[in-house]
Amino acid sequence: MKIYNTLTNKLETFKPIHKNTVNMYVCGPTVYNYIQIGNARPVIFFDVVRRYFEHLGYTVNFVSNFTDIDDKIITKALEEEKTEMEIANQFIEAFHKDVERVGSSTKYLAPRVTEYMSSIIAYIERLVKKDFAYQIDGDVYFRVSKMKDYGILSGRNVEDLTSGARVEINDKKENPLDFTLWKKTDVGLKFPSPWGEGRPGWHTECVAMIEDIFGGPIDIHGGGADLMFPHHENEIAQNHALNHNFVANYWMHNGFLNINDQKMSKSEGNYIFVKDLDVDYMGFRLFTLSTYYRSPINFTDALLENYITEWQKLKRTYTQAFYKLDLAEQLDESVLPIEAVETIKTNFMAAMDNDFNTANAITELQNIAKYTNQKIRQKDQYSELLAAVKTFETFFAILGLDPKTSRMSKAIKSMYYEWADARKNKEYDKADRLREALSQKGIL
Ligand SMILES: [Zn+2]
Repeated sequence: MKIYNTLTNKLETFKPIHKNTVNMYVCGPTVYNYIQIGNARPVIFFDVVRRYFEHLGYTVNFVSNFTDIDDKIITKALEEEKTEMEIANQFIEAFHKDVERVGSSTKYLAPRVTEYMSSIIAYIERLVKKDFAYQIDGDVYFRVSKMKDYGILSGRNVEDLTSGARVEINDKKENPLDFTLWKKTDVGLKFPSPWGEGRPGWHTECVAMIEDIFGGPIDIHGGGADLMFPHHENEIAQNHALNHNFVANYWMHNGFLNINDQKMSKSEGNYIFVKDLDVDYMGFRLFTLSTYYRSPINFTDALLENYITEWQKLKRTYTQAFYKLDLAEQLDESVLPIEAVETIKTNFMAAMDNDFNTANAITELQNIAKYTNQKIRQKDQYSELLAAVKTFETFFAILGLDPKTSRMSKAIKSMYYEWADARKNKEYDKADRLREALSQKGIL
């Protein structure tokens, strides 16, 4: 199993810290609005990472947080005359709905920042004690100049960053690159701390929660490429200062999702919420996974439409194959290894082992569909069809594609036999009518 590690910029063999266990953390949303389709990319991709590790027999401890206190939440709460908690709860519920829509699991640990306040404050206190942080007027900042290798993740260096930094209005800081660990606030929800009332900085939240939950460095830290700088860089700086590690042994970043070759942004007016997509979301999942996760995706309506059609085709092939098995008399249910199917399986696993290359894995999904279509048309290919159906099911489970179909019911089976009899007895009107009904159910 190889993973492209953004910390070292190398493809590396995966070695877990604890045997047979994967501890992973993916940065979650700040809950003040619905998520847009670009935010769905890590939601889908890292769910597949979890599924694949589980398929390989690992126990995966998957954690993804909710930032439930933030200026944006406070602003929204004031606008809507609600409390920050009401806003956060509303959009946490909406997030879970969207996660389910796109076929990802919501059964993971989702810590909320407001529940980890004492750990976060203790983390900042340790940084202050070690002189890596300083307090001014109730704010606490990280002292970037004390970190020799600041910029290690994003490949930026302090000189370039300093010359590129805009002149700051905030002249309290020793250095414009110093980032906020604790922010004194007058408006909205605030928490008591040794530096007065306020709330934590975003970069400290994730890293303090990781330490609290996992008790040390983890295997994988994931998120969108837009989080690499400054968010993840600053997570690493703090943890390196305190604990001399890089938070995670493997850092994974997914590429952007653009719309019609433009970056998705509110100002461009091309913002699409997941909930508003209103399509077959499995088609959207297939579309998202059809590009290698590190490459950018360019979203267009036409492209999505193609993938929705492709998904329907895959689903139809799979369903027809198992219906054919359902109708077979005295079927031997033992699955025999079929050479052509084994080759497709091997190629699928090789693609997944090569840094979760779902694009190549989906090519193999299409290959199993091609093979299945051939076997559906041929006579007495039950062993082949059975092997193909089982392979379909493995691929679907790993990719999180749910065909939402079930085996043929008794009623459908008798309708099928009625159609076969009508055809045999040359009752053409009846046969046509039944054929139409069966075809609508995807059986013929
Ligand atoms: Zn984070």
